[in-house]
Amino acid sequence: MIFGLLKERRRNRLRSRAFPKTWLRIIRRNVAFFARLLAADQAELLGHIQVFLHEKRFEGCGGLEITDEIRVTIATQACLLLLHRKTGYFPHLLIILVYPSTYMVEAHRHVEGPVWEEGRMPRIGETGRQMGTMVLAWDAVKSGAADPSDGKNLVLHEFAHQLDYENYAADGVPALATRKQQFSWREVMRTEFASLCAAEETGMPTLLDSYGATNPVEFFAVTTEAFFERPRLLRARHPRLYAELKDYFEQDPVEYSAEKAKD
Ligand SMILES: [Zn+2]
Repeated sequence: MIFGLLKERRRNRLRSRAFPKTWLRIIRRNVAFFARLLAADQAELLGHIQVFLHEKRFEGCGGLEITDEIRVTIATQACLLLLHRKTGYFPHLLIILVYPSTYMVEAHRHVEGPVWEEGRMPRIGETGRQMGTMVLAWDAVKSGAADPSDGKNLVLHEFAHQLDYENYAADGVPALATRKQQFSWREVMRTEFASLCAAEETGMPTLLDSYGATNPVEFFAVTTEAFFERPRLLRARHPRLYAELKDYFEQDPVEYSAEKAKD
């Protein structure tokens, strides 16, 4: 209790600190959505970034040296997910490992039916709950921040997984405030996930990345990317899904999206 209080006090202090000008320049240069946010949301976001950067450790991998540009560009995108909500700042996450570019991991991958492929696979990011770690490829972080409406954003994707873990279960359901919300979330997500799986099987083109058909966990991460990057299309084609996400995130990205009205 005391610890919680001290932590809250420290976070309040960090949020109200003057934001470093050099960091703000990095954001304006690298993170396209920032300029489109309301002034009040920009201010709130900058506060969250200060807490985030104080609490998370970064480590460079594959010869990459961590710079303020890397830290701030990642933090700005991650903290977009926290706006307007009471937040624990991705409490399970301790350390973020950053590679310069696509990195290789030992893995096995499902090909088709009983066929699995083993060996070294390229990755641009992942996050593991047990370890409290996240891995990101810097070039993918940067290109994701530069284009706010292509429907793809590595940082939003990986941090959506962290939100999913907040309630201690990796099940595609983040910590929802009320029972009513939990009930309608499960109902809507089940239907929407099933329809993405069906479309994936028949090869029908979809707004949501077909990677979301992997399982409900990936479905939540992929829909989060679409919610922030293609909100108009998502709202038009999946109104119930959009409404659930809007309820949870307590924001409406249509209001600041760079997405073209017609796409
Ligand atoms: Zn994922």
